[in-house]
Amino acid sequence: MILSRLSIKLRLFVIVAIAALPALGILLVSGVEHRNEDIHQARVETQKLAESIVSEQNIFIASTRQLFIALSQLDEVRSFRRDKTQAILAEILKQSPQYTNLFVADPTGIVRASAVPLKGTVSVADRRYFRNALESGRLSSGEYVTGRATNKPTLNLGYPIMDASGKVRAVICAGLSFEYYRQIFKTHRLPRGASVAILDHAGTILYRAVEPEKYIGRPADAGIVRHMLAGPDEETSTGKSSVIGDVRVQTYRKLRLDGETAPYLFIRAGIPLGTVLSGANASLGKNLTLYAVALLCAILLAWYVAKKHIIDRVRVLQRSSQRLAEGDLSVRVAREVGGGELGMLGQAFDDMAGKLAAREQALRESRSKYQDIFNTTHDALFVHDRSGRIMEANKASEVTFGYTREELFRLSVADLISGIPPYSFSDAQNVMEKAFQEGTQQFEWLSRRRNGETFWTEVTITPTSIAGERCILAMVSDITERKEVEQMKETMLSTVGHEMRTPLTALLGFLEFIAENRVDDAQLKEYHAVMHKEAERLNDLITNFLNMQRLKARLQDYQFRPLDVRQLLEGAADLIRNPSVMHRISFDIPPDLPAVVGDETLLFQLLTNLISNAVKYSPVGSEVMLGARSDGAEITLSVHDCGIGMPPDVLDRIFDLFYRVDDPAKRLITGTGLGLAIVREIVAVHNGRIRVESVPGQGSSFYVTLPAATESMN
Ligand code: ADP
Repeated sequence: MILSRLSIKLRLFVIVAIAALPALGILLVSGVEHRNEDIHQARVETQKLAESIVSEQNIFIASTRQLFIALSQLDEVRSFRRDKTQAILAEILKQSPQYTNLFVADPTGIVRASAVPLKGTVSVADRRYFRNALESGRLSSGEYVTGRATNKPTLNLGYPIMDASGKVRAVICAGLSFEYYRQIFKTHRLPRGASVAILDHAGTILYRAVEPEKYIGRPADAGIVRHMLAGPDEETSTGKSSVIGDVRVQTYRKLRLDGETAPYLFIRAGIPLGTVLSGANASLGKNLTLYAVALLCAILLAWYVAKKHIIDRVRVLQRSSQRLAEGDLSVRVAREVGGGELGMLGQAFDDMAGKLAAREQALRESRSKYQDIFNTTHDALFVHDRSGRIMEANKASEVTFGYTREELFRLSVADLISGIPPYSFSDAQNVMEKAFQEGTQQFEWLSRRRNGETFWTEVTITPTSIAGERCILAMVSDITERKEVEQMKETMLSTVGHEMRTPLTALLGFLEFIAENRVDDAQLKEYHAVMHKEAERLNDLITNFLNMQRLKARLQDYQFRPLDVRQLLEGAADLIRNPSVMHRISFDIPPDLPAVVGDETLLFQLLTNLISNAVKYSPVGSEVMLGARSDGAEITLSVHDCGIGMPPDVLDRIFDLFYRVDDPAKRLITGTGLGLAIVREIVAVHNGRIRVESVPGQGSSFYVTLPAATESMN
């Protein structure tokens, strides 16, 4: 509907207009009725006017007829006694101003006697009234003429006087004075603007109520005359006046004499429509003006109500909705838009804004929590689509794979996997499809870092969706360490098994031999010595292994404190010196060396392991040098020997658990492969560094760098 597309203001205007329409209708209808009533009144008025003139005329004709009858009875008249007749006629004319003349004509038309004296012989043989009176033998009418005796405009009537045989003896004539009509109109007060005209049978104006002099003797409009001739005897109509030119309500009446077929007189009475309707028009105009003022007031009121109580408040709601849409959740309108349905709407708006704000707050908190979890989790988390395109990645992803966040967003998961079958991208896609169908999948995967290094990961993928698109949420844990531990465990179990079994087998072998054979004392002593050595080796192995495990698990509480380097080195050398008196142990320690920070027990163990290796892997009588250097913040301890040395390719492996260099030169030298692994762990506990230099056949140097004590520590 069109109304629904309009603004509220226009709608109210339309409603006011619709509400006002019936009143306007009633106003117009009553106006029209009033006009019709007035027109009807005017018709009646003109009819009455015409009627009154008709009756005057009829009375006049009747009295004239009686006069004629009376005169026709007079001998003087009948016998054309000129003087006597003229005296009678003159006397009557004197008494009757309604006539211009009274005269008697003989059947040839010659006037024999006349109230108005004649100059010479006058004939009326050509006059209509005369001829008609002769023909019809009745009272006959004439037409507009100028009297031949009176020289005045007149309308004559003729009345035949018959003899006993019915022959016309004479015609008595009377000229009608138009002054008579003036008198009639004087007695009849004409309505304002009304016009009355009296026309003869040919349409010549005999008299007119308004400006008679101007119109008397002039022909009336031929059209009107034709209309009257063709029309009924009496008619009232509304039409344009041909004389004055305005629209009028008009009534005409035709007058006939007894026996005449053609009318001898037309009477027309008219009232201008403007005058007739002036009252109705004025009243309609007044009513319409009042109506327009009332309508204007109603429209202004509607406009005011619409603006103040609806539009302004709706605008407030509209502006507030916009602000709400732009994210301003603090916006409230109930105070501004109070009361009524709009007030309820405003309250509902506020409630909605309040709830939205609360929800947004909750959402923000949960998003921030989620972000925190997402970013602080130790595992790499990222979201990628079906094609592998990465859409979201957390901090741990950057650390795990070595890419920046921006770089990750430009990558595909294909770039993060090793690509080595069965860890290729197509293998990954198969697992993704499985996840889409069956849900979360967990598996181990060989991944690849930015630097190309491959590493083991445990991956959990879960189907999810972002903005309607199916995606994968992947959680990737770096399990390198676990894998290494697993590997180490395997190696350790087999090595420990082997290393422990070797002394045990020897012990058991000797014990069995002693139990089953007769062994003399000297032999028994020798066997005991071997068994003791094997038992010690087993003990070393177990002790070192346990130490190692304890270190790795950081089970002990260490006491880090400044330690005198010389005391440490000399103490450790003393521990070793006894079984190896054959080696020369020398010291290279500057006198003002600062203290080193460390746990005394651990550093003793570190040094004894290094010194015992130096002794073990160098020939009897060779020199072992223990040194120390200060580098400001750090102290570097060194153990140098002139032994068998090591090839360069084994140097980075000698610190591995159970690793022993496979060198035929030292096949007979026993060991567990745990000594240097313990050394590395002790260095790690102290946040220090260890370095080795070695030349096969010449000797080896181990350098351990540890933090130096600051002055405040001493
Ligand atoms: P082991 O008990 O075998 O000595 P270590 O862990 O102490 O175990 O040493 C690992 C290996 O490193 C040794 O088996 C040896 O081959 C080599 N090694 C360690 N110290 C020296 C050294 N000073 N000279 C030559 N080789 C050494």
